[in-house]
Amino acid sequence: MAFSSPMKKSAWLLFGCIVATTSTSNAQVKGEEGTPMIPGTPYRVHDGSRPQPPQVQSAGALTTPAPGDAKVLFDGKSLDAWTVGGKEATWKVENGTLIASPGDLQTKDTFGAVQVHIEWRIPAGRQVNGQAGGNSGIFLMGLYEVQILESHTNKTYPDGQAGALYGQKPPLVNASTPQGEWQSYDIAFEPPVYKDGKVVTPAKATVIHNGVVVQHGEEYFGTSTYRNLASYPENHPTDGPIRLQFHGDPIEFRNIWVRPLGERDKAPAP
Ligand code: MG
Repeated sequence: MAFSSPMKKSAWLLFGCIVATTSTSNAQVKGEEGTPMIPGTPYRVHDGSRPQPPQVQSAGALTTPAPGDAKVLFDGKSLDAWTVGGKEATWKVENGTLIASPGDLQTKDTFGAVQVHIEWRIPAGRQVNGQAGGNSGIFLMGLYEVQILESHTNKTYPDGQAGALYGQKPPLVNASTPQGEWQSYDIAFEPPVYKDGKVVTPAKATVIHNGVVVQHGEEYFGTSTYRNLASYPENHPTDGPIRLQFHGDPIEFRNIWVRPLGERDKAPAP
């Protein structure tokens, strides 16, 4: 097509600019440079250009009470189930809410395959930017992170947003609700299975965020790590604590419980 007048030509140039801006909008999300490729994908670890998961409206936290066979980890009062660095659990508790404070919080008990329920909230009015300002995480066995992040309006690399298996798998969709609102994760987790010092079945997680499935029996590539490809250690424990990350931000928690998953046709341990 020939341009018949200078005005038409400038209109086409303007159109071209708009198209270019739209198609590169993901590139504006800050990722990490120089990271390895994630196997089976055309994306790098913490890739800012990876497609942002579609946002879905959700009703916010499911406030499921602990079933009869659950171990209550936080009931609004006691931190008896927890420790920070092997010592007293020093995270703040205010008005029934647990507030992330210096040092990761981890359970005294250890677990293998589990169902976990946890409710969390980014306090209203947080200044957030990518991974900064609204970051925590729940680590199954102390090793496998499901990311907690302010992801309602805050964009980051998709393998680091709320509901991601951090550094490995973005959530299928973004079910995040705004700051100041309670959100929930219901997680079913299975540890890896080893045979003769090698992984035969990777660790696996299903994550339901605010009632929405965001990870469906997804396998971890290995234990959670930053900027690197996850891998499995030679020696792997059979169980480990549930750990809540302190990333410098006062993320709030309530109603936390866990159910160890038994095996079909086997009576539970007495
Ligand atoms: Mg985190």
